[in-house]
Amino acid sequence: MYIDGEWLTSDSQFSVSNPATGEIIGHVVDGDATHAKSAIEAASRALPEWAAQTAYARSAHLYRAHQLMQEQHAQLAELMTREQGKPLKAAMNEVKYAADFLLWFAEEAKRIYGETIPSARADQRFIVQKQPVGVVAAVTPWNYPISMLTRKLGPALAAGCSVVLKPAESTPLCAIAVFKILEEAGLPAGVANLVTSNNPKPIGDVFCTHPAVRKLTFTGSTAVGKQLATACAPQLKRVSMELGGHAPFIVFEDADPVHAAKGAALVKFLNTGQACISPNRIFVHRSIIEPFLATLTSRVATLQAGDGFNPANSIGPLINEAAIAKVDRQVQDAVARGAALLAGGSRLTDNGLENGCFYGATLLSNVTPDMLIYQEETFGPVAAVVPFDDEDDVIAMANDTTYGLAAYIYTQNLSRAYHAFEQLHFGIIGINDINPTSAAAPFGGMKESGLGREGAREGIEEYLETKLGGLSI
Ligand code: ADP
Repeated sequence: MYIDGEWLTSDSQFSVSNPATGEIIGHVVDGDATHAKSAIEAASRALPEWAAQTAYARSAHLYRAHQLMQEQHAQLAELMTREQGKPLKAAMNEVKYAADFLLWFAEEAKRIYGETIPSARADQRFIVQKQPVGVVAAVTPWNYPISMLTRKLGPALAAGCSVVLKPAESTPLCAIAVFKILEEAGLPAGVANLVTSNNPKPIGDVFCTHPAVRKLTFTGSTAVGKQLATACAPQLKRVSMELGGHAPFIVFEDADPVHAAKGAALVKFLNTGQACISPNRIFVHRSIIEPFLATLTSRVATLQAGDGFNPANSIGPLINEAAIAKVDRQVQDAVARGAALLAGGSRLTDNGLENGCFYGATLLSNVTPDMLIYQEETFGPVAAVVPFDDEDDVIAMANDTTYGLAAYIYTQNLSRAYHAFEQLHFGIIGINDINPTSAAAPFGGMKESGLGREGAREGIEEYLETKLGGLSI
């Protein structure tokens, strides 16, 4: 753990394993509530000086961190593949994405503008200034174990906040590597603190109840996000929540079914389906479902699961046994209720995969609303195809979920695209585009997918308070 500029060790540790092989790859300090408290106190002590630094000085630290992350690109990606399992190429992409946030917010640090507002009174002037919210507590997930950290650390530090971060228990080594970079970038002691733990609840309790924490930023499941937001409510701490998704992927009748199926194959199986923006319900117009399924079936057949260090493998392991059980339960339920299983459908244990958490790339068609997979987030390598006939019906079906993170549409018709863009209740919409994300673009969900936005110009606002001055001259 990294608290107040010091790396702490302890006899109380937990092991970290490679989900592709089951091999133990490291041991990490198992922090508790006392560590969370001392990290928050260190962040409180460091806050005034950090907030008082010029935007240019804070920006310089982030530029340096960006440069270091680029220099360590390959090592960080290798660590990520070992700890989280994703194919090395995907890990390289993620490190690049992670570094982009450091660069973007190094730039945004210098653009925290205020304003002056005309008053109705001749003697009065209004001035509006932005100030850091204060100490930020951050909780991050395992599926994107470096970029989800920089997406929070970048804007928080740029805004002048100090931070205490708790990474997911499956991927603390990636978090340690990020904090080594911040240390090397010369961040003053206490400005960014890392508390690792195998038992998140007591740490979360301290984050939500300690009066010095003024903001909680969380990425993870909707269930945990709601618990944390509820726990923050008595002190009215500000919260940002990036939660689960249940993305519809709609292929309208005028779309090119082959092009759409190629896109679906790419985005659905990215990160082995373990992404909150992963398509969960693939709605395809009945008139083009045959060519769509033919292409998707042939693409799925080429997806080989295995260790991410072998470049032939494009599907990594799931993160743990519980994830395998959840995916399998959804697939078995769908098949029992009449879905057609066109590929996969079972755990993979042959050819050296016996010690890992591998599930075959799976394709289901004729999925219907009564199936679990239609209702629950999947977080696994299962493409669930639902035929539809009517444009208004499909928009209603797509919106019929408590989630509202990402949606995808395929059409060649501009009016139809625009109509769908406006009618879909999701925070991120890909239009003939499977990667509508960037450090420069606002990422976040509606409804129970979250609160607030990360990245973009908006991302830094989450860490700023607006202060009004009324001045009589
Ligand atoms: P997933 O189900 O995808 O693992 P979680 O929401 O459980 O998602 O985990 C996301 C992050 O939330 C991880 O860092 C995890 O340790 C943390 N977490 C889980 N439960 C709690 C809790 N009760 N309090 C604080 N953090 C928690």
